[in-house]
Amino acid sequence: MILLNPGPVNVSERVRQALLKADICHRESEFTDLLHDIQAKLLKAFVPGAEAEYAAVLITGSGTAAVESALMSSIPHGKRILIINNGVYGERLSGMVGLHRLGVSELKYDWTAKPDPERLRLALRQHPEVHGVAMVHHETTTGLLNPVKDIAEVVDSQNRVFIVDAISGLAGETIDIAGSHMYMVAGTAGKCIQGFPGVSFVLVRKGFLERMRTYPKRSWYLHLTHYVDDQGRGTVPFTPAVQVYYAFNEALDELLEEGVAKRIQRYKKMAALIRTRMAALGIKPVLPPDRQSNSITAFYLPEGISYDTLHDRLKAAGYVIYAGQGNLENKIFRVANMGALTEAQFTGFLDAFEQACKAA
Ligand SMILES: *Cc1c(COP(=O)(O)O)cnc(C)c1O
Repeated sequence: MILLNPGPVNVSERVRQALLKADICHRESEFTDLLHDIQAKLLKAFVPGAEAEYAAVLITGSGTAAVESALMSSIPHGKRILIINNGVYGERLSGMVGLHRLGVSELKYDWTAKPDPERLRLALRQHPEVHGVAMVHHETTTGLLNPVKDIAEVVDSQNRVFIVDAISGLAGETIDIAGSHMYMVAGTAGKCIQGFPGVSFVLVRKGFLERMRTYPKRSWYLHLTHYVDDQGRGTVPFTPAVQVYYAFNEALDELLEEGVAKRIQRYKKMAALIRTRMAALGIKPVLPPDRQSNSITAFYLPEGISYDTLHDRLKAAGYVIYAGQGNLENKIFRVANMGALTEAQFTGFLDAFEQACKAA
């Protein structure tokens, strides 16, 4: 089955085979080696040249675990977080801080709109109790690329902490984590890095780590400095998904061999292929080109075909597309181009899509 949903993604045979490596105990040196390998590769891939300034913290859990861990571990007593929300995943950030009553009124936008850095600057001046700002890098809801660089500049100039959910962005979009002074960036193995779901990570600025140690613990499993301290000794606090770590390590080798910039270019090219052909078929994208990411496109449903019908016809041909969420449900469909897929496989999908529309 070809997966055109935004994770889990199709992985290469090489990554799949890595699942079959030897059984090991996570309290032995074999696991320490694996952990250190993964950490070094993550830093090389995402903070090249600034590896010494960041720590890569691994967590067994899907992407949400890394996001929640980053967010809830970065708020001192008496301080708050401001969320920029323009989609389902921004909404999730709000839900997390809301649960602990640690938010201030969020900066909310329409799901197709780009956040405005000047509005953030004003809000930060008005709210001295705000310690950090959190935002999604690539809003998977619509495939909208948020202006992380501009927002990072404002957060930095106002001396606040920037926490970024880059789960669906890392390895698919250009992001200058170190240059933009991002304090916390959450990612996952199971999207553009082309590993399996089950392990996620946070890239943390080392200077901030020391400050975080004095912050209250709000979760037993997800308290980030707990992981940092254990990983400093080459271990992890809880039983890790060892086999998934093996596959993650292999996927990072593949990423570094391909090159992060080349991976991003490949995704961009595949997204363009999909968009050009869809345009020729009269299928309209939800976002204008200047807001679109490299790895997912939201399209309005073709006239006269329901999402379920379209989905089922394509699935019968071997392709899984993705539905809209919230108020976009039954209005749009999404096509992700993440994963170890070839141009021929995307062309095969586009042919099948054309047939599925004709069958109407
Ligand atoms: C996929 C995704 C997540 C995490 O989802 P999980 O199902 O927990 O892996 C978080 N944020 C964004 C932007 C995502 O695309």
